[in-house]
Amino acid sequence: MEQSDPNPVETPITAGNRLTIDLAALARNWRTLDAQAGAAETAAAVKGNAYGIGVEPAVRALSTAGCRSFFVALPEEGVRLRSVLKDATIYVLNGLARDLASMHAANHLRPVIGSTGELEDWAAYRAAGGTGQAALHVDTGMNRLGLTFDEARELASDKARLDKLGLSLVMSHLACADTPDHPLNARQLATMQDVRSLFPGVAASLANTAGITLGRDFQFDLVRPGIGLYGGTYRIDLPPLEPVVTAEARIVQIRDVPAGETVGYGAAETVHRQSRIAILSTGYADGYHRHASSTDAAKGAETFLHGRRAPLVGRISMDLMAIDVTDIPEAERGDWVELFGSGMPLAEVASAAGTIGYELLTSLGGRYDRHYVGGV
Ligand SMILES: *Cc1c(COP(=O)(O)O)cnc(C)c1O
Repeated sequence: MEQSDPNPVETPITAGNRLTIDLAALARNWRTLDAQAGAAETAAAVKGNAYGIGVEPAVRALSTAGCRSFFVALPEEGVRLRSVLKDATIYVLNGLARDLASMHAANHLRPVIGSTGELEDWAAYRAAGGTGQAALHVDTGMNRLGLTFDEARELASDKARLDKLGLSLVMSHLACADTPDHPLNARQLATMQDVRSLFPGVAASLANTAGITLGRDFQFDLVRPGIGLYGGTYRIDLPPLEPVVTAEARIVQIRDVPAGETVGYGAAETVHRQSRIAILSTGYADGYHRHASSTDAAKGAETFLHGRRAPLVGRISMDLMAIDVTDIPEAERGDWVELFGSGMPLAEVASAAGTIGYELLTSLGGRYDRHYVGGV
């Protein structure tokens, strides 16, 4: 397959910031989780444009690594994925939207049926001669999507009805897998074991990335990692796998700011020494959350350049933000500064913004110059 880097290095970069996405690291992360998942099949959650990294290159790399089943949130994401992978199994997590049963089947997408209303629609579609398979989502304690356990039991007791549905998977989702000793994990596991016994012969699935690491019991027949593949933190007590995304911004200019002056909108932060302040061409329009700003009241996020960290100074604007490079004399106009990546952990930046790596990745804006490396 061709390695398509749309921006070879000779081309001047007109964007103010760039993303380097390491598809070889993505593939290695998949293999690492696949090894941890033992006999269970390792699928991949690629919703939200593969957590922001770009669904087409991501699924090509994952498929080459050996991944055969994929989870998206929406039917349109499924259609986009199907145009890249003709033979993959594709599940649509947000359920069966009204009147879309035949659309799913036409694209060989499997809806994850998450309510009795969806179940009735799917049963009617199959009864009218429709083909195609589906998954059944059973709620085990999250109270978001899925039939209740009692509804699942009622369905399971009607063997004739059940056999007509074409179910290929029964699944549930963990609410607290990132916190291994949370009591809800054990309760959800016990309920899922009961669910599995209601549907003999149908593959069962419970674990997201964090769930894989909770032990063999949680892995059932198929695991559905997402964030771990993309290098995000998935458990509060474990380091992430390899970073996949490096986000960098260019230094637009460096200016001297005297002690006692403030930087940026709202005069939110005062510098307490004669400072060299670098202005970066990235802001909240690029998905760098404004909540990661630095103020006199609370320190903000940090960046990484020339092997050292440089903290944000003042409020993040739409297209710009400032960092303190007083202690990094090599810093100069035109340098690329790492916003997150191997030098600056995604989770730390996310935490400074009061959010999680998932949200930071999926909110990366459209202005980055995207480079894919390590493709196959
Ligand atoms: C997003 C999602 C996953 C993947 O979760 P991660 O925490 O990113 O590993 C798995 N299952 C379902 C139902 C999901 O919505």
